[in-house]
Amino acid sequence: MTEPKSYAVSILQKFKINFVPVPVEDIAKGLGAKVVFSALEDSHCGMIHMQGNIIVIGVNSIHPKNRQRFTIAHEIGHLVMHKDEISESIHIDQAFGERLNRDGRSSLGEDLKEVQANRFAAELLMPTSILKRETKNQRIDIEDSEFIEKLAQKFQVSFQSMSIKLLDTFYKNYSLSTSKLHP
Ligand SMILES: [Zn+2]
Repeated sequence: MTEPKSYAVSILQKFKINFVPVPVEDIAKGLGAKVVFSALEDSHCGMIHMQGNIIVIGVNSIHPKNRQRFTIAHEIGHLVMHKDEISESIHIDQAFGERLNRDGRSSLGEDLKEVQANRFAAELLMPTSILKRETKNQRIDIEDSEFIEKLAQKFQVSFQSMSIKLLDTFYKNYSLSTSKLHP
């Protein structure tokens, strides 16, 4: 199947976005989804479901702004890549590890979709081409927390998300542990 990253790249092209921070809520709306912010349990990040013909993305408003942005991007990933499933049932996202522990839904297919949605979200919020442009002529040091923090602020993502993206982009030999992909 097509790489999640490629889906993100084509969505960015579709909406002519070559700047950061990526207006993730506008993208959701542009794809016909309604974004609803409400206070949920801390362990819940967000959800996506169909209300009649309307796609609704729910976001936990008690989480930090950057995490909410990642959640919206993650749900857009499901919308773009897994539309058939969300039309059948409500999809609720909990913090990755907790979801697996709580209801034991650890089937490979389910995990794969979460990994795909996270990869999509990372590319949507931190497009590789823009990241390379923004770091041109700079020394990439993933132990320089000030450097990472500045970039994270520019892209409006969490420090952790940016760290992973930098590793993924500039340290090709680093093997990603998928469980660390959630912010
Ligand atoms: Zn999900």
